[in-house]
Amino acid sequence: NAAAKPPPTPSPLRFSKFFQSNMRILVTGGAGFIGSHLVDKLMENEKNEVIVADNYFTGSKDNLKKWIGHPRFELIRHDVTEPLLVEVDQIYHLACPASPIFYKYNPVKTIKTNVIGTLNMLGLAKRVGARILLTSTSEVYGDPLIHPQEESYWGNVNPIGVRSCYDEGKRVAETLMFDYHRQHGIEIRIARIFNTYGPRMNIDDGRVVSNFIAQALRNEPLTVQAPGTQTRSFCYVSDMVDGLMKLMNGENTGPINIGNPGEFTMIELAENVKEVSSIKSFYQSCSPNSFNRFVFINSLISLVVQLINPKVEIKMVENTPDDPRQRKPNITKARELLKWEPKIKLKDGLPLMEEDFRLRLGVPRNN
Ligand code: NAD
Ligand code: UDP
Ligand code: UDP
Repeated sequence: NAAAKPPPTPSPLRFSKFFQSNMRILVTGGAGFIGSHLVDKLMENEKNEVIVADNYFTGSKDNLKKWIGHPRFELIRHDVTEPLLVEVDQIYHLACPASPIFYKYNPVKTIKTNVIGTLNMLGLAKRVGARILLTSTSEVYGDPLIHPQEESYWGNVNPIGVRSCYDEGKRVAETLMFDYHRQHGIEIRIARIFNTYGPRMNIDDGRVVSNFIAQALRNEPLTVQAPGTQTRSFCYVSDMVDGLMKLMNGENTGPINIGNPGEFTMIELAENVKEVSSIKSFYQSCSPNSFNRFVFINSLISLVVQLINPKVEIKMVENTPDDPRQRKPNITKARELLKWEPKIKLKDGLPLMEEDFRLRLGVPRNN
């Protein structure tokens, strides 16, 4: 921070003449899963005016329907790889597909979104003197060689693999953020988001929590991608939004990990699985070493089974290349610098997501 130039003078144009708002905030990717929850929270404050820019690749107007027509809200169909001229005080820059099946669908577009899109948003931040927050990702750590991951770890990323458009794209986006900060004095914030789940996730976006819930509701087997020993830790979306807003409005540039470190012990695991015989036999087929790594994925399965559908089966399926084997955030920095930590446990968050999926899939509760 010390080496950075002072920020540019804020433009007087930023403050709306028509509304009594104190803060105009741009959310790129605001029609997506995390973005739309962030917009809900920002709109709760009557002093905020919110502009969403989204190209609807993975997001939808439906996620924002309650705000369309609101005098403090504006929705723009816009692709961030094109320049954007608006007058704002803060930019939450989320635009980028987050699910592997979507970001691999058009990898060149994904890298353009991360690189050119972030460059444009930084150019905008520079012109109007806005503070900008980038939603980076735990994927910058790649297939990590240290566990849990802390921000000082530089990562283990394959630069030429099928996930690289996303991983390396976000790494360049982080580099651009710091170069604009050092060279032009832009006020930056970088959040490294770990797997997040909750209502409004795309039902068929291929991610593990959305897959398991949709499969359980459709009475289809839960697809565990081999070897099944990989771990993840999952953060409920309201905790994530809270963390992002604390980072934006605090004094630290980051990067800061925001995620749920996961607190599954072996005893909890055993308690979770003891009534579910199919899962018990699944565990028993594993070696003691790999058993430890089953903590998350299998606790997730056992929770889905117990909470949503006890009759559901589990099926091993092939995995995709370069899948990280373990992932869990060290959130010491978030705790100390942002006074933030997640509040919602997986067993409390899953039913909230289940409810939303039931409504969208049309599966009544007595099914
Ligand atoms: P999402 O796919 O639901 O939302 C992304 C939004 O960006 C969508 O509305 C999409 O239409 C929009 N978008 C994509 N490309 C765009 C472009 N070129 N121009 C304009 N809009 C574009 O994903 P999400 O889960 O809400 O993720 C939001 C952000 O958080 C992303 O930057 C993602 O990389 C990051 N993140 C998410 C997770 C997670 O677990 N959900 C984990 C790590 C990082
Ligand atoms: N940019 C934008 N909105 C703005 C200002 C800039 O989208 O309000 C874009 C601009 O088109 C450029 C990028 O941001 O491609 C980087 O802008 P910057 O001024 O830093 O660089 P330069 O235009 O000098 O390349
Ligand atoms: N996964 C799984 N079954 C599924 C989807 C995913 O076992 O139906 C696994 C996947 O192999 C990965 C983990 O769940 O190890 C998380 O995958 P996801 O796509 O949700 O997020 P990622 O962390 O890979 O971005």
